Amino acid sequence: LTPVPSDIEISIAQTPKPITTLAKEIGILEHELESYGRNKAKVELSVLERLKHRTDGKYIVVAGITPTPLGEGKSTTTIGLAQALGAELGRPAFACVRQPSQGPTFGIKGGAAGGGYSQVIPMDEFNLHLTGDIHAVTAANNLLAAALDARMFHEATQTDKQLYSRLVPTVKGKRAFAPLMFKRLEKLGITTTNPSELTEEEITRFARLDIDPATITWSRVLDTNDRFLRKVTLGRNPTEKGHEREGGFDIAVASECMAVLALATSLNDMRERLGKMVVATSKQGHPVTADDIGVSGALAVLMKDAIKPNLMQTLQGTPVFVHAGPFANIAHGNSSILADKVALKLAGTEPNDPEAKDRVGYVLTEGGFGADMGMEKFCNIKCRVSGLNPDATIIVATTRALKMHGGGPDVSPGKPLHDTYTKEDLVTLKEGSKNLVRHIENSKKFGVKVIVAVNQFSTDTEAELDLVRQAALEGGADAAVVSNHWAEGGAGARALAEAVVATCEGESNFKTLYPLDLPIEEKISIICKEIYGADGIELSEAAAEQLATYTRQGYGNLPICMAKTQYSFSHDPKLKNVPSGFTVPIRSVRLSAGAGFLYPILGDMQTMPGLGTRPGFWEVGLDPESGRVVGLF
Ligand code: ADP
Repeated sequence: LTPVPSDIEISIAQTPKPITTLAKEIGILEHELESYGRNKAKVELSVLERLKHRTDGKYIVVAGITPTPLGEGKSTTTIGLAQALGAELGRPAFACVRQPSQGPTFGIKGGAAGGGYSQVIPMDEFNLHLTGDIHAVTAANNLLAAALDARMFHEATQTDKQLYSRLVPTVKGKRAFAPLMFKRLEKLGITTTNPSELTEEEITRFARLDIDPATITWSRVLDTNDRFLRKVTLGRNPTEKGHEREGGFDIAVASECMAVLALATSLNDMRERLGKMVVATSKQGHPVTADDIGVSGALAVLMKDAIKPNLMQTLQGTPVFVHAGPFANIAHGNSSILADKVALKLAGTEPNDPEAKDRVGYVLTEGGFGADMGMEKFCNIKCRVSGLNPDATIIVATTRALKMHGGGPDVSPGKPLHDTYTKEDLVTLKEGSKNLVRHIENSKKFGVKVIVAVNQFSTDTEAELDLVRQAALEGGADAAVVSNHWAEGGAGARALAEAVVATCEGESNFKTLYPLDLPIEEKISIICKEIYGADGIELSEAAAEQLATYTRQGYGNLPICMAKTQYSFSHDPKLKNVPSGFTVPIRSVRLSAGAGFLYPILGDMQTMPGLGTRPGFWEVGLDPESGRVVGLF
């Protein structure tokens, strides 16, 4: 329709096919599907075992230019391209996207189901609750938080003997260790495994975690933008006997449990990672983990269903996996490894299939924010853990966002867009195309093919679209295609889909940017110089000390997850386009031992968003006649 109706109007107008029908079409067996109502289902991980002999489908990461408030349309392009590959070209095509957080959905961003005629449907179910994975992450995170504070309280109010006799209860007249306690004995180097044989000194070491409250890094979480919970005082009731402390809440998707979910490669691997999560340091300087607190088994139980990827569909009935949604600032901002793996097998080909080349399918997975963030972390963190080799990167660009990089004015909410963004302006656009070119050059460093998708807006002129395509090709892109999927659905992305098929032929030469065994400082420096274009880095004293501690504690070999602004290649959100001549200040470095990365912090990182004066929720409600959700966008 012209003009294109609102996202939710389009979403409601299309009736999705039963999810069981879609599952059958893509080769999932009945016993591998767990339906959550009519429109969503979880897929059992056993499908990986059944299809392990298959050669994987083509693996493509969708990233963008440096984001601006004007929006680039990465989700919309991912979905539009999946529709084109699947419904127009008839190839197996899977989109793998993150589950959106309820915080931004009711805050400023709105949903993340794509837009126009390129959407995941039903978009209200996609944006809210889904199958409860974020709730499971919240439950796990907060159980660990509660366990940590309770343990500190009991250690503070009991003698060693009291603690020990409660931690190691008597069963049928004998003291009995819980399974996790053997792990703790091993960690402490205590050789006896008979609870009755521990010496007094061993009992003290065993029973006391001796957590230094000043070192606690574990917060409580909630999937709501609730600014008043950023900093709170915990334990104010008299029952806690004055053991108050300052604490805080993060948005649920910033929980390390979410990053673990996204990076786990099996149920067992998730269990191990949850156990390794470090929550604080002991007064003796040892990291204290979820295993030490005895809660990791319970965390895995809370998340055992969340680990199964969720199947939904696009407006054109092609498959979408919606799974995990780690924060893209302090975590890596990519959807789950397991969803990608399942999709790659379903899109894969049988060994010795003479027609494999024409039958192979495509998996499009989204890397949050600009390619300097989402794509870099996808390659250096996610692919390193999964062992998967991407074939290509797609970089999504819009003329309006490039114009902002080229010097176009800032946008003010509620005011009409400046003429630069709605009329032809080749000069500003040409200047801003340098941002796109830098992202192309960066992506090439990973040895993958690069395809530029110009996400067309109705106000773009032919000359503008041509200019971006030319700049991309001259900048080294293997293909650059204008795509009109927002207005036309899959048909509008046909040319892009054909370019993807042509470009992804042949083998991938994927490589990571740095080896893990380099010193932490050097790994950070490589990312800053090679990807951001910085002259170098400057470590604060605190950061240098933290690096020394992590190296001593055995965490030096982890990959790096930069926590920096998404609005610039640099650490300064005001520096648009391709800044140069800057040194990146590393204020501190933190550890996600379970997820398996170190994250250097470059600026103020907000881990609990707030609500503005006029949040998105004002529009949202139920239609009194149909009972349907209205006002989500
Ligand atoms: P990103 O994934 O980069 O954050 P989205 O794909 O979620 O961006 O798109 C952001 C918003 O922009 C959505 O509401 C979408 O409908 C809108 N949008 C995307 N592409 C276009 C386009 N070509 N024309 C008009 N609106 C668009």
